[in-house]
Amino acid sequence: MELVTRDFFLFLSKNNVMNRMAKNWGIGFVRGKMIGGNNFNESLVYIKKLNDQGMTATVDHLGEFVGSSEVARERAEEVIHTIETIARENVNAQVSLKMTSLGLDIDEKLVRENMTRILETAEKHQIMVTIDMEDEARCQKTLDIFKEFRLRYSNVSTVIQAYLYRSESDLDELNPLRPFLRLVKGAYKESPKVAFPDKSDVDQNYKTLIRKQLLSGNYTAIATHDDHMIAYAKQLAKDNQIPASQFEFQMLYGMRNATQQALVKDGYNVRVYVPYGDDWYGYFMRRLAERPANIAFAFKGMTKK
Ligand SMILES: Cc1cc2nc3c(=O)[nH]c(=O)nc-3n(C[C@H](O)[C@H](O)[C@H](O)COP(=O)(O)OP(=O)(O)OC[C@H]3O[C@@H](n4cnc5c(N)ncnc54)[C@H](O)[C@@H]3O)c2cc1C
Repeated sequence: MELVTRDFFLFLSKNNVMNRMAKNWGIGFVRGKMIGGNNFNESLVYIKKLNDQGMTATVDHLGEFVGSSEVARERAEEVIHTIETIARENVNAQVSLKMTSLGLDIDEKLVRENMTRILETAEKHQIMVTIDMEDEARCQKTLDIFKEFRLRYSNVSTVIQAYLYRSESDLDELNPLRPFLRLVKGAYKESPKVAFPDKSDVDQNYKTLIRKQLLSGNYTAIATHDDHMIAYAKQLAKDNQIPASQFEFQMLYGMRNATQQALVKDGYNVRVYVPYGDDWYGYFMRRLAERPANIAFAFKGMTKK
C-alpha cells in the first residue's frame, strides 16, 4: 500500500497541469510550515528564527520545469540575488540549486555559464553552493559539472543518493577532489535497473556511504529524518574520534523540528533545507510520497480557515 501511495505521488509530482494549478492556487497553507514563502525575502524571517535556535540553513528556489534559456537565466539571477541578500542580511545560510533549473535539459553550455556567474558571486561572499541531485537520467551530467567546477571553486558541493547502485563508486571517484557531500537516500522514482528496490538495501547502502565519506576525512552532510541513520552516524563519529566540525545533519524545513533542536542541544551542527518560491508543487508531492503522514498535515492545512 505504501509503495502504491509513493508511486502515485511521484507520478503526480511530474504533472505539468497540476503544477500550473498549484501556482495559481498559491502557497498559503504550506508557507512557514514546509516552504519559506513566495520569495527569498518572505523566507528570511524563518531563516533568522532557525539561526536564533542555533541552526543554519540552505535555501532552494523551487523550480522544476524550466523550458527556455531565458527562464534558466532568470533562475540564475535569482540565485545570485539570494546570495547577495544572504550576505547583506548577514544570515547563516547557503544555497542549493538544481541543474535543470539552470538549463540542463536545454543546453549544457548555458548551465556552465549560469554556474560560473553564481559561483563567482558565492565565492566573493564565501557561501557554499550545493548542487541537488535529481533523477538518475541526469546523475552523470550533474556529477560531470560538479567535478569540473570543484577543480576551480572550493565552495561547491553536491549530493549522493544511496538508492543508486552506482553511488559507492561515484564516492570513490570523487574522493580525490576532497568533496563536501550531502548524503541522502534518494527522492525520485527509479527503475530497479539503476536503484535498489528494497528499502533495507537503501538503508544499508546509506550507512556504507556515511562510513566511507566520514572516514575519508571529507566534510559530510547527513541529510535524513531517520533516527537509525542519525544514531549510526553519531556512533561512527564517536568510535573514530571524528570531530563534530567534520559533519552536519540536514533536515527539510518543517520536518522533525524537535529532533533538529535536540541535535543542536547535543552539540551537533544542524542545517535546515528551506525551499521557497511559487513553484512548490513538485517538491511538495515528493514529500507526500516519502511520508504518508504528510498527507494528513496537507489536508488539515487546506481545509483550515
Ligand atoms: C536536507 C535534505 C536535502 C535533500 N536533497 C535531496 C537531493 O538533492 N536529491 C534527492 O534525491 N533527495 C534529496 N533529499 C530527500 C531524500 O533523498 C529522502 O527522500 C528524504 O530525506 C526521505 O528519506 P529519509 O532519509 O528522511 O528517511 P525515510 O527512509 O523516508 O524515513 C525513515 C524514517 O524516518 C522517520 N521520518 C522520516 N520523515 C519523517 C518526518 N517528516 N517526521 C517524522 N519522522 C520522519 C520515520 O521514522 C521513517 O520511518 C533531501 C533530504 C534532505 C533532508
